[in-house]
Amino acid sequence: MHVVVCGGGIVGLAAAYYLARREVEVTVCEAGSLGSGNTDRSAGGIRTQFSTPVNVKLSLASLEVWDDFEERFGVDIAHRRSGYLFLARTEETAANFREQVAMQNDLGVPSAYLSPAEAREHCPELRIEEFVGATYSPTDGFADPHLALQGFSQAAREAGGEIRTKTPVTGIEIEETGDPVTADVTVETPDETLDADVFVNAAGAWARRVGSLVGLDLPIAPRRRQVAVVAPETPVPDSVPLTIDLDTGSYFRPEREGQALVGGHFADEDPDVDPDGYDTGMDLDWAVTAVEHAGRTAGYFGPESGIVRGWAGLYAVTPDHHPIVERSRPGVVTAGGFSGHGFQHSPATGKLVTELCVDGEASLVDISRLSRERFDRGVPDDERNVA
Ligand SMILES: Cc1cc2nc3c(=O)[nH]c(=O)nc-3n(C[C@H](O)[C@H](O)[C@H](O)COP(=O)(O)OP(=O)(O)OC[C@H]3O[C@@H](n4cnc5c(N)ncnc54)[C@H](O)[C@@H]3O)c2cc1C
Repeated sequence: MHVVVCGGGIVGLAAAYYLARREVEVTVCEAGSLGSGNTDRSAGGIRTQFSTPVNVKLSLASLEVWDDFEERFGVDIAHRRSGYLFLARTEETAANFREQVAMQNDLGVPSAYLSPAEAREHCPELRIEEFVGATYSPTDGFADPHLALQGFSQAAREAGGEIRTKTPVTGIEIEETGDPVTADVTVETPDETLDADVFVNAAGAWARRVGSLVGLDLPIAPRRRQVAVVAPETPVPDSVPLTIDLDTGSYFRPEREGQALVGGHFADEDPDVDPDGYDTGMDLDWAVTAVEHAGRTAGYFGPESGIVRGWAGLYAVTPDHHPIVERSRPGVVTAGGFSGHGFQHSPATGKLVTELCVDGEASLVDISRLSRERFDRGVPDDERNVA
């Protein structure tokens, strides 16, 4: 079996690694360089505290891999397990938190509902008067996305996978053979035409465009998101969790040497952008607002805080903030629309893509909830824990 994976981001490379491990001939076609999409622009958050069971299950299946990544892949991805702290300003959000913690605990996540005073034990400068409740899980944290991508790409190559950079997929022809899983697939690139049995769309914010090459209309929208590296007035200790004020969408986490990474989306408008032609720089106005929001969450970000640098990248957003992971038609697997959590869910996704290609169905996690047909059946439950 030959599988062509379109996209050399973390999702495509994780898929390539697990496919190669199953002795599948795999070729990754990446239009630019590895990670040049949005993986390198990620904040690197890894968490189990999601609001729907399927996202929690994707997290748990991925956490197994993140937890011993260095041992398996020989790359230290700077995985910090300082937890995630979600904060509620309203009773409605706090009630959702209590329900989510019960669901997460049923699935084996050791998250807990906390009072603001208890939350302050994790984040000493927390402005407890602003909040009514919180949740925390010690399983959560963050890692370096670029190092993780290197780990998957090296391991994929060592397992026999071929990775081609500067190789955009420009056309695809599919001839169905009657087999439900495979097809006669012809993948065009500027230099060569590749024959394959399965084509995997792992093109991130470009997934809708790539999907249109195989006759699919995928509801995956590229949306611009920014982060800033900040020198806070008071250094943020390494032990402080990634802290999210869910009612405003503002978040921060410690960065090296007392600095902090600050993010969030505060505009009412959230237009689709052209993934090949958007501003990848940080807007200063946005950064000032982001630091103000962070200052309303915790006392680290007083008026003497400085903005060091920042950047913008793209979330690939679906209407319910869950990815589409499915066999879209014989010979085509889609893994996209991660809505801001594709870095952390890449290990489970790589395994699921492999199962769809090799076994014909997924078994690691029940992914019936992740097929694009869910949108035809009505409005599915939204993932609420999105910043
Ligand atoms: C500011 C920001 C913060 C984030 N924070 C987090 C976080 O804390 N935790 C988390 O889990 N996620 C986070 N994310 C999301 C995360 O970055 C993405 O979900 C993840 O990187 C998606 O990986 P991917 O492999 O699907 O896409 P990408 O890394 O974008 O890779 C897709 C690749 O496909 C290639 N491609 C496109 N079209 C073609 C073509 N025709 N032919 C060949 N190649 C093609 C592109 O060049 C690109 O390299 C964040 C994102 C942003 C922007």
